[in-house]
Amino acid sequence: MFKKILVANRGEIAMRIIRACRELNIATAAIYSEADSTGIYVKKADESYLVGPGPVKGFLDGQQIVDLAKRIGADAIHPGYGFLSENAGFAHLCQASGITFIGPSPQAIHLMGDKIQARNLAKQVGVPIVPGTEQAVTSADEALAFCRSAGYPVMIKASAGGGGRGLRVVRSDQELSASMDTASREAQAAFGDGSVFIEKYIDRPHHIEFQILADRQGNIIHLGERDCSIQRRHQKLIEIAPSLVLTPELRKEMGEAATTIARAVDYDNAGTVEFLLDQQGRYYFIEMNPRIQVEHTVTEQITAVDIVRAQITIAAGRPIEFKQSDVTLQGHAIQCRINAEDPRNNFRPVTGKITAYLSPGGIGVRIDGAVYKDYDVPPYYDGLLAKLTVRGRTWEETVSRMHRSLEEFVLRGLKTTIPFMEKIMEEPDFRAGRFDTSYLETHPDVFNYDEHIEPEDLVLAISASIAAYEGL
Ligand code: ADP
Repeated sequence: MFKKILVANRGEIAMRIIRACRELNIATAAIYSEADSTGIYVKKADESYLVGPGPVKGFLDGQQIVDLAKRIGADAIHPGYGFLSENAGFAHLCQASGITFIGPSPQAIHLMGDKIQARNLAKQVGVPIVPGTEQAVTSADEALAFCRSAGYPVMIKASAGGGGRGLRVVRSDQELSASMDTASREAQAAFGDGSVFIEKYIDRPHHIEFQILADRQGNIIHLGERDCSIQRRHQKLIEIAPSLVLTPELRKEMGEAATTIARAVDYDNAGTVEFLLDQQGRYYFIEMNPRIQVEHTVTEQITAVDIVRAQITIAAGRPIEFKQSDVTLQGHAIQCRINAEDPRNNFRPVTGKITAYLSPGGIGVRIDGAVYKDYDVPPYYDGLLAKLTVRGRTWEETVSRMHRSLEEFVLRGLKTTIPFMEKIMEEPDFRAGRFDTSYLETHPDVFNYDEHIEPEDLVLAISASIAAYEGL
């Protein structure tokens, strides 16, 4: 087993990895920027190292991270999600430097990093894909020809895309060429690759994804699915497991489709195979994420499998400790992303100091957090403050438990998604399990929530604006 793991990430996922390492008796080394020096994970790791320059570059400088790992005697690197987690070059650099990259092979990362290649692979192994172009679309004529034969609406997608960037829904010939340009420019800026392709737009689908585990001995299993249909701007906000719309037969079929894709790329470690499920119950592969995902907690809560532990033991060369037939899905789980953002203001990110913090507790409640009272939320990173995951025996119990936990959650000093999430937990369609990816557009009432502003927050907000006004 590894002696020391360098955690090449920050925030809640760095904490999550440190926790798994502690249970495995593996030492941890954290990296941080000056802007992130007050993060909890920096204090909880056995060692921590300042990396720069600036708030972000140090987390993206693969060579510096590998050199650091060698210098401090770390034998493995866990990339978490984001940053270098889907960078095949970094995985390769680790390999070439004799350090284990906790994730799949550079080849698998490379292949899955390109949505066009991934779609073609899925098609080859007989897994349905969304009807779309087989290659990147480079001319307006090609785009027009596809859209006229497939019919509108369509979705333009960046081949290198992720996090909802480079996606555009197009409803007419008139919009097509401008949307192609914007999607391509957005993709070029975000991913350094402007290639785009076009898919038929599926009407009000469910986003269903399967969690995969694969070891170096050739065992590939899945841990069931998550339904991540509650999204804003095509980015996930609330995730549940299991899906409320899958029959056991469909679960089996989609689970097999997911493992088939993993096998086709000789996949090892944890990964997620994403599908859309349409209103008629037909499913389509959309992409595979070769890393741990934010929403892995809901799967852990219903399977009792520690996915990060499995990532580490698999990377150390051990076989998965159980078989597909040992995996059972018990009860229901919901995760709410507690973000520093203002849902009513188009989910605009906010920053500020946390003036009060008390996390919820009690039966079935799990917090994966990264903040505390007096923590100043920096503006440079994603605004995920904490993940609240609850588990219950029935769906109804789980929703009530989430509502109660959100009510109990004290996190003051800046706007968060807590009151908005509370409102969703009260909304009849959500409570009845009736939701798909159109949920937020079709339920504008969930934005009419009560902000729960405490008197002391008002005083703080007013003094902050006075200070800003006076230029203090
Ligand atoms: P990203 O990699 O940027 O997250 P995805 O391909 O995973 O992009 O898609 C993100 C979300 O966009 C999906 O969960 C779904 O809500 C929506 N989406 C993607 N493709 C389609 C499609 N063909 N039709 C309808 N919605 C889609």
